[in-house]
Amino acid sequence: MSSETIEHSPLHILFFPFMAHGHMIPMVDMAKLFASKGVKTTILTTPLNVPFIFKAIENSKTISNINIQTINFPCVEAGLPEGCENFHSIPSPEFAPLFFKSTVLLKEGFEQQLSLLHPDCVVADMFFTWTTDSSVKFDIPRIVFHGISLFSMCASICMEIHKPYEKASSDSELFVIPNLPGEIKITRIQVMDYFNNDVWTKRRKTIRESEKKSFGVLVNSFYELEGDYADYYRNVIGKRAWQIGPLFLCNKDKEQNKYRGEKSSIDENEWQKWLDTKEANSVVYVSFGSIAAFSDSQLKEIAIGLEASGKSFIWVVKKSKKDGEEAWLPEGYERRIEGKGLIIRGWAPQVLILEHEAIGAFITHCGWNSILEGVGAGVPFITWPVSAEQFYNEKLVVDVLKIGVPVGAKKWSLFTDIDDSVKRDAVEKSVRKILGKEEEAEEMRNKTKLLSKLARKAVIEGGSSDLELDAFIAELGSLRG
Ligand code: UDP
Repeated sequence: MSSETIEHSPLHILFFPFMAHGHMIPMVDMAKLFASKGVKTTILTTPLNVPFIFKAIENSKTISNINIQTINFPCVEAGLPEGCENFHSIPSPEFAPLFFKSTVLLKEGFEQQLSLLHPDCVVADMFFTWTTDSSVKFDIPRIVFHGISLFSMCASICMEIHKPYEKASSDSELFVIPNLPGEIKITRIQVMDYFNNDVWTKRRKTIRESEKKSFGVLVNSFYELEGDYADYYRNVIGKRAWQIGPLFLCNKDKEQNKYRGEKSSIDENEWQKWLDTKEANSVVYVSFGSIAAFSDSQLKEIAIGLEASGKSFIWVVKKSKKDGEEAWLPEGYERRIEGKGLIIRGWAPQVLILEHEAIGAFITHCGWNSILEGVGAGVPFITWPVSAEQFYNEKLVVDVLKIGVPVGAKKWSLFTDIDDSVKRDAVEKSVRKILGKEEEAEEMRNKTKLLSKLARKAVIEGGSSDLELDAFIAELGSLRG
């Protein structure tokens, strides 16, 4: 192409999401957002992930600006079962390390695409650390997408530098995360670094290294939500970040929000009609994202706690009846809760449910997408972190933003051996509290509603996220020279 043609052709960004719903969903939204600004976008994935992505973009008004390209994922060569191209299709949690490791086999296909497409920039998931060197090879800037909050990024960097958990004398001792604004306190068993095995320690080091060499990070968040931490990240840690979220708000109507990840396991009429019969802010929505899998005994405690609260609930359980006997379900449970509780086995249309006015609280594992979706819907939280950076998110929600109550989860875990020590009483009490009429609950509701307004304002023309998006696009354009 001549330099004149390049100058007049639209910017082209290649998006390369890690193959797990919690990573793919926001990155596909990001591609849609850039497409709505006239940027040509290509989403790179493996063949079996195409249907998830296609469903998510097919109703987009800017679909003509979005392409999907595929590269092969040699699962069998990697030691994974045939067709295991998404983290959700690993047969058991023990396969998780292999799945992460094997994504490096995508390198060759990725580089072929770079030489073919030669985009202006690559936005690649943090787990694809090797994409930084590949991009350097082709002289293309690489942006990192972590998919988490700046609060969590700052907290984990402070934790890595100062290692305060090494000085804690017991598992229950609360210590302050050094240098992080806000005097945030945590225990050592809530910190992933305390448990990290060699593989993860090495992986996180590689992530930091590849981040240092990249152009900057795009963040699914907005300034009004965590401004102190955005300032800290840029001014103290000294890295470049553009907050351009909440990304899910790029979906403007029901149709566009319908397909996120899997196909819904429940008919729209069913959940909608059920919720329509409930009063505003009276129902708790319970979901632990796409990965966290509790033991049967923990699920039973949740079941009994929800029932004892006397409040209405929608509970998403990642188990199907096909799994055989439902050992987690108390005897006669569904009969007893009829009209009061709705159990969705499998995949729920989360964004649509949260936005129903009957939903008054969200019991969440604190995955960052779920937090943003709850904030966007103006729904306060009961926090139940499990893994990854979720305990940091709990601190942001409970201690900084004051829009949630903790259920009392104590221990971080990674895919296997999930802590199952939360008792029914804790579930019951937290549900009563957050849906109650007391001043504290009222304040949390008001604060979350205000944040919801700010989130929506951030993404409209001239809002903080919209301006950062424009600034990023302009900077990318200026690189063409
Ligand atoms: N999700 C959904 N239905 C479900 C479970 C999850 O739509 O039944 C979506 C949810 O709305 C969010 C994503 O999957 O966008 C989960 O991301 P999150 O960061 O909350 O948690 P993760 O699954 O990565 O642990």
